Amino acid sequence: MSIYLDYNASAPINNKVLETMVNVYKNNIGNADSRTHEYGDSARKIVEQSRQQVASLLGINKDEVFFTSGATESNNIAVQGLKEYGLKKNKKHVIISAIEHKAVLLAAQSLEKYGFEVQLIQPQKNGMVDAADIINSLRKDTLLVSIMHANNETGIIQPVKEIGEYLNDKDVFFHIDATQTCGKLVEEVKELKYDMMSISAHKLQGPQGIGALILKKKNYRLPPISPLFFGGQQEHGIRPGTIPVALTAGFGKACEIAEYEYKNNIEHCKKIKTILLEQLNNSKLNFMINGDISCCMPNSINISLIGISSEALMLSSKQYCGISNGSACNSNNYSPSHVLVSMKLTDEELKSAIRISWGHDTDIDEFKNKFQLLLDTAKSLIF
Ligand code: PMP
Repeated sequence: MSIYLDYNASAPINNKVLETMVNVYKNNIGNADSRTHEYGDSARKIVEQSRQQVASLLGINKDEVFFTSGATESNNIAVQGLKEYGLKKNKKHVIISAIEHKAVLLAAQSLEKYGFEVQLIQPQKNGMVDAADIINSLRKDTLLVSIMHANNETGIIQPVKEIGEYLNDKDVFFHIDATQTCGKLVEEVKELKYDMMSISAHKLQGPQGIGALILKKKNYRLPPISPLFFGGQQEHGIRPGTIPVALTAGFGKACEIAEYEYKNNIEHCKKIKTILLEQLNNSKLNFMINGDISCCMPNSINISLIGISSEALMLSSKQYCGISNGSACNSNNYSPSHVLVSMKLTDEELKSAIRISWGHDTDIDEFKNKFQLLLDTAKSLIF
């Protein structure tokens, strides 16, 4: 049996989440926006309860949660949704980091054809953007700053707390892609100051295909998002389309579980990282950790095993170990990771980089055995 070590791509669904969803699929057949019968009423009740569970995890109001199909959609609505407002106010400067997920990077770059200027802030060698670089780049015409909370390839946590505090009283919208931290760094996420935040259920033991865009009110007003799609009035017209009731129920349940289990989950993930580092240090392999380990998520690591091709290692270990060498969204092309390139890794370091990520249900003994096998395989591949 192979061990799954790619939780940053998608985490397995929690059984209690699945049970909740099956129950909803079996017993609730209505459309949450139907107002003429009780099938609609009961579907709506489930959706609103889920919205409350998401809000509770984030420490926000329920009317600030807008369901989407996932973080890709949330990021696109947040970034592209400000286009009309930016054009109207002549604020066409957008600041993002070079290590953003492609759903932010490409959404921002899509604005360039409308005259927007997208400024890319490069990370430091430690994998972190410098908050001062963001703050020093602000201009009178800056519309939006979008920075992720933790990077999905390196796990490195970004200084979004500092940036949010600085921007809080400025006339600039701040969007955080918190896909990798929601439900994991629960207290830290609650403390952040922002206008918009993207999250996704399948990274926190929820189902794939649902997420949320959080829109925070300032002076009782939501950020001036124009919709990207047109149709019904669901989610205040920001994301029209029939709300998938069972998916929202699963998302809500996953948030509820995260709220009372996150501390244990963090401890479990930290134990695995300690074991991983011990085994790596004992392996005598020549390795480099990509990014500053002291600022890394407890559940992931990115390592270059110098002299070993990551492609060869992944192929040779496929039967017993599911790891990756970057974002799943890009893994069907072999171009090097834009995140690691911007951290200025050498070609050799880039070619040998692997990402390993795990979760609360990763079995420690199985991890030890399979990770040791991976290291032994790596040794056999040194050329
Ligand atoms: N942002 C980040 C940081 C991610 O890790 C991911 C998923 N890899 C996404 C956005 C896209 O999320 P989704 O799969 O929900 O579209």
